[in-house]
Amino acid sequence: MEELLSLEHFREVKNKGYGYIAITDKNLPKNCIHHTSCYEVKEMYFNQKVIISNRKNGSYYFTEEPMLAIYTFEKMEKCKKCF
Ligand SMILES: [Zn+2]
Repeated sequence: MEELLSLEHFREVKNKGYGYIAITDKNLPKNCIHHTSCYEVKEMYFNQKVIISNRKNGSYYFTEEPMLAIYTFEKMEKCKKCF
């Protein structure tokens, strides 16, 4: 699993077309893991959370194995829209 820390890395992962993105957020009751292609995974939100807020409330991770993220992070679930 790799943490996404820059817009360049985020775009590279979105463009790969395979793998998954896990998004953590301290303030939400549940967190979701998405296919990289999910329309809910938006650059605008990544920019806000990771770049502007400096990961104060949560982070983005790329993984090829969704269960790894589900076991690693609390309250992580598969996105109902893309799984
Ligand atoms: Zn999704």
